[in-house]
Amino acid sequence: MSGDLLSTSIEFLKGVGPARAELLKKELGIFTFNDLLHYFPFRYVDRSQFIKVSEISSDSAYVQVKGRVTGLKTVGEGRGKRLTGFLQDGSGSIELVWFQGIKWVAQKIKPNLDYVVFGKPSYFSGRYNFAHPDVEAVVDIEAGPEATLQPVYNSSEKLKTRGLDGRAFARLTKSLVSQIENQIHETLSAEIITRLKFISRQDAIINIHHPKDQTLLNKSLARLKFEELFFIQLILLKQKFIRTTSVQGHIFKVVGDQFNDFYKNHLPFELTDAQKRVIREIRIDMGSGKQMNRLLQGDVGSGKTLVALMCMLIAIDNGFQAAIMAPTEILAQQHFATLSKFLGDLDLNIALLTGSSKSKARKLLHQQLEDGSLNILIGTHALIEDKVKFNNLGLVVIDEQHRFGVEQRAKMWKKNTLPPHVLVMTATPIPRTLAMTVYGDLDVSVIDELPPGRKPVQTLHYFDSKRPQLFGFMKRQIAEGRQVYVVYPLIHESETLDLKDLTDGYESIVRSFPLPEYAVSIVHGQMKTDQKDWEMQRFVKGETNIMVATTVIEVGVDVPNASVMVIENAERFGLSQLHQLRGRVGRGADQSFCILMTSYKLTSDGRKRIDTMVETNNGFEISEVDMKLRGPGDMHGTQQSGVLEMQLADIIRDEKILKFARNLATEILADDPVLQKPKNAVLAGRLHHLQKYKYDWSRIS
Ligand code: ADP
Ligand code: MG
Repeated sequence: MSGDLLSTSIEFLKGVGPARAELLKKELGIFTFNDLLHYFPFRYVDRSQFIKVSEISSDSAYVQVKGRVTGLKTVGEGRGKRLTGFLQDGSGSIELVWFQGIKWVAQKIKPNLDYVVFGKPSYFSGRYNFAHPDVEAVVDIEAGPEATLQPVYNSSEKLKTRGLDGRAFARLTKSLVSQIENQIHETLSAEIITRLKFISRQDAIINIHHPKDQTLLNKSLARLKFEELFFIQLILLKQKFIRTTSVQGHIFKVVGDQFNDFYKNHLPFELTDAQKRVIREIRIDMGSGKQMNRLLQGDVGSGKTLVALMCMLIAIDNGFQAAIMAPTEILAQQHFATLSKFLGDLDLNIALLTGSSKSKARKLLHQQLEDGSLNILIGTHALIEDKVKFNNLGLVVIDEQHRFGVEQRAKMWKKNTLPPHVLVMTATPIPRTLAMTVYGDLDVSVIDELPPGRKPVQTLHYFDSKRPQLFGFMKRQIAEGRQVYVVYPLIHESETLDLKDLTDGYESIVRSFPLPEYAVSIVHGQMKTDQKDWEMQRFVKGETNIMVATTVIEVGVDVPNASVMVIENAERFGLSQLHQLRGRVGRGADQSFCILMTSYKLTSDGRKRIDTMVETNNGFEISEVDMKLRGPGDMHGTQQSGVLEMQLADIIRDEKILKFARNLATEILADDPVLQKPKNAVLAGRLHHLQKYKYDWSRIS
């Protein structure tokens, strides 16, 4: 086998040449034969299926019609310039229209020849037409490949003007695959191929371009999708194996006095079974001698803070210090207050460090950190600074991880000679399939249960016209002693405009809820920290009834007496944000409400988001819908990872293949962790190649 042919410059493929090669490189990143071979069709046309013009209806998707093209003419001027014509097939006639590439199309279509028109009919001024259909002479098709499934490739406008439309691509790949006999290396081991009854990589590549039939196309897709998902899993799991075997961790041998005393004498309520289970998982990890890297997922209000505290107590029992890092100053303060309250009169030294800590307090704190007399440090990213040195840091808890970058996390690793254990907490549920790919090398614990006695938040959707009813409802709730949040989105490019929306809203609320009967707080991102805190504290203490805010309050704030969350312009928020905001209420004993205000104008996605919120409180269901609406690439934490750059596989549609691939990767690595057995040599080779050329895996935590 030789790789030479495949690494030939694309310029030398028959029908390409220097000019087109230049464009292929620029527009599509196709430099070599091999690159073109991996430029897959995005769909196939079944050339044996035609319909009549008279059969076209509103639900015809892509269809093929055969007939004569008549009355071709250019009309309009400038931007309105277009080429129009009609296709007649005896049953009727349908208009064809092109706005771009006019010259080229006009040149290509000759009178008195039969054409096949392929496209998606659209309905316009009372009749159907085809905009930008593919048109090909019947004689060309008949002279072409005999297979009935024809590949359709994405092209670009520039390539089209150079004569490289989707069909021309098909001719190029046809000529290419006919030359590549025995050039394509196998990437899966013989064992896997036999066991899963896969076709060879070579056959898969040939048939994904020019399938002999539907069965072979399906087999190609199955094999190539599997392969994409399988190697990602193999890389992630192998990485995890290396981390857990080569990075030593502090061994927390005992569960000692602090933990036991707290558990027996200070815990104000019974832990939920889920909390007990995750504490056990974490304890086992921290006792294993390996460094823990664990993701703790739990819906808002599921009690993650308490889990974190109990794990920190284990660290302290073993002679270590612990730290908890929060994304905002308000949250850090709240953690400090919560933990101080929980710990009560326990003989522990805990401290708060944020950007606004005074230098005198800082000095003392640094000293206590270094001499080891400080047990727990709570703070913002101020903890990361180099001058913050610990005597013996054993556990770092990172709250709401998506606010922190991988690099910042890595800095915490360096705070001790042996890296501390790391527990990352998130209330943004991650769909299982996404967790498997993006966080595939982290261990995951899930709190899938809320503390007992919580009444699920009731969610309602109001159009803006119902604002008087909304205000009436707010007044009744306030009369019962409850507090209300009113949240505005950040929607404009300019902060000043956002602020205007917020202040307009604030003023209208102040008019409807006047002093002295009511008091209204306002918090937004452009306020000074101490001013923000002061307003926040007034609301926390119950001195104000209504908190008007931007999404700064999204994460973590805990005011159990607040029972109403009003979200203005709710259609502008993403699902996970809506869910986070709703989680701010429903923390006390009272029935809570989340009211989504929208205008009448809703996009279908906007509608779906609102409906989902009204229908369910389950964070995992919400995250699944979110991923389907937005696509996995737009979810939290995925942007930087590169693991979702798949050509064929889709972690939503191909969930079954993904799970299968993960299981198989696990099984293979259990038997041969670093892939050194001869039977796995092919896999090891492929892995090496992918890591070298495709993925920069160091980007993944
Ligand atoms: P989150 O997971 O969103 O960070 P918190 O840790 O803030 O949730 O917990 C939410 C509330 O539930 C807090 O007031 C906390 O004291 C309370 N809580 C935690 N665990 C329990 C439990 N097992 N039983 C009753 N209340 C609990
Ligand atoms: Mg929390």
